[in-house]
Amino acid sequence: MAVPKRKTTPSRRNMRRSHHALPVTGSIECSNCGEVKLPHHVCSACGHYDGREVVEATETF
Ligand SMILES: [Zn+2]
Repeated sequence: MAVPKRKTTPSRRNMRRSHHALPVTGSIECSNCGEVKLPHHVCSACGHYDGREVVEATETF
């Protein structure tokens, strides 16, 4: 079995993990109710998209 010759230094370890960050997810306010929602998604609070109601607002918090 292949074994690393040297211990990974904290610098090398952190350089490897520099690509592990999660992408920033955008968020906009719903034009109908003002709730924060994902862009290009139906609002989960009021069911509106593009200025009209497309699904019933079933999720109640
Ligand atoms: Zn909404």
